Amino acid sequence: MRAVQYRTIGGGPEVVEVPTPEPGPGQVRLRVTAAGLCHSDWFVMDLPADKYAYGLPLTLGHEGAGVVDALGDGVTGVAAGDAVAVYGPWGCGLCHACARGAENYCPRAASLGIQPPGLGSPGALAEYLVVDDVRHLVPLGDLDPVQSVSLTDAGLTPYHAIVSSLDKLPAGSTAVVIGAGGLGHVGIQVLRAVTGATVVALDISEEKLALASEVGAHSVLRSDPSAIEAIRSLTGGVGAQAVFDFVGAAPTVEIARKSVALDGVVQIVGIGGGLLPTGFFSTPMGASVRAPYWGTRTELMEVLDLARAGAVHVEVEKYTLDEAPEAYRRLHEGAVRGRAVVVP
Ligand code: NAD
Ligand code: ZN
Ligand code: ZN
Repeated sequence: MRAVQYRTIGGGPEVVEVPTPEPGPGQVRLRVTAAGLCHSDWFVMDLPADKYAYGLPLTLGHEGAGVVDALGDGVTGVAAGDAVAVYGPWGCGLCHACARGAENYCPRAASLGIQPPGLGSPGALAEYLVVDDVRHLVPLGDLDPVQSVSLTDAGLTPYHAIVSSLDKLPAGSTAVVIGAGGLGHVGIQVLRAVTGATVVALDISEEKLALASEVGAHSVLRSDPSAIEAIRSLTGGVGAQAVFDFVGAAPTVEIARKSVALDGVVQIVGIGGGLLPTGFFSTPMGASVRAPYWGTRTELMEVLDLARAGAVHVEVEKYTLDEAPEAYRRLHEGAVRGRAVVVP
């Protein structure tokens, strides 16, 4: 089969021919119907050799959807032809976190060598994908796989951050979204769907600000230090009760720090390396800072339900497997509107 792999440090993604994988006992093989490209893939591909921990060659793609194609020994509960989305943050399945569906916070995964597809295990940017356990499959039902595959990360990750801040976001509150890219443009819609907040979106690109307005931001601002004053003035001097930073770089966490309200929350979702020291005289009194990771299996079901209800959608740029390196290049340049999705 064909797959998109990261094969050499610094070498970027390549389209290659690899053996079609066979599902082992308990595993399920999917024929991939859609796979999304995430900026985290670039984070991984930009790592120097001494920091890289995902194995080579690595088949990329941690947003996956497919139809069940072959069952390993002992698998029950799904049948060939079932349309599914893949829950990516695989855990051990046995601990307290996993029992709650929060496999994204499984404390045993690392020591057991369990890694998500596309981030250590072979990923979804291929014609076939082997999923380690049937519990990592969520039925898609009548949702279109290409339109909804990115809900498994670009939808789930903002949703997880937002629902953990729901108590901060009643009617009359303000939420700031920094970065209206793949995650951010879905985050804006989730905020509109599940909170009463006024949504202010920041980006450095005019096109992304236009997209932010289109998907529901009440106001948009250029992401520079002047945004801090603008957010203060939009909120009558109070600041934003929640700031979701989908960039997470030094300049954006500084905007977050200076725009969050007393007793507010900053959720640093982007992995741009910015640090936000909390403590008296650094962050407003009562404010908390959190760096959430991906989301729970139940939350994935909820995001898919939001899409089914028409409350959130993903703006999709469609590519073939052969075009994946080009799609990655566009993502790197910040040119993708919404999410780039590969249809093998
Ligand atoms: P993306 O490239 O689709 O979107 C990034 C957006 O940020 C773009 O619109 C870009 O114009 C904008 N941007 C860049 N610099 C900016 C700045 N200084 N101020 C405001 N906006 C700026 O990326 P994505 O796939 O949506 O991922 C966003 C971030 O989230 C990445 O760092 C990614 O690695 C990370 N991520 C984290 C998790 C997690 O679990 N925490 C999950 C997925 C992705
Ligand atoms: Zn991702
Ligand atoms: Zn676990």
